[in-house]
Amino acid sequence: MTQIIYCPIIDPVKINRAYAGKPGKCMCGCSGKYYEADSPIVKRIAGYVSACENVEMQKSRNGGEFIYTAIIGGRQYTIYVSI
Ligand SMILES: [Zn+2]
Repeated sequence: MTQIIYCPIIDPVKINRAYAGKPGKCMCGCSGKYYEADSPIVKRIAGYVSACENVEMQKSRNGGEFIYTAIIGGRQYTIYVSI
């Protein structure tokens, strides 16, 4: 993953889903939870990532999404944003 040194500017409309869970663990859902775009929790997770503390950015395998992950307070917060 690429460490980014700026705060990501995230268009809320482009957020496809979000994830919250244990850092560095399996992301199938056994160590955390995915939230669909219409969930109010997505907004909160996007807020954590926008705070740009320990944020890493990667591109999805198909190249259609940016994936932002922040580790804050021992929790991992990830959002999936359309490019
Ligand atoms: Zn798993």
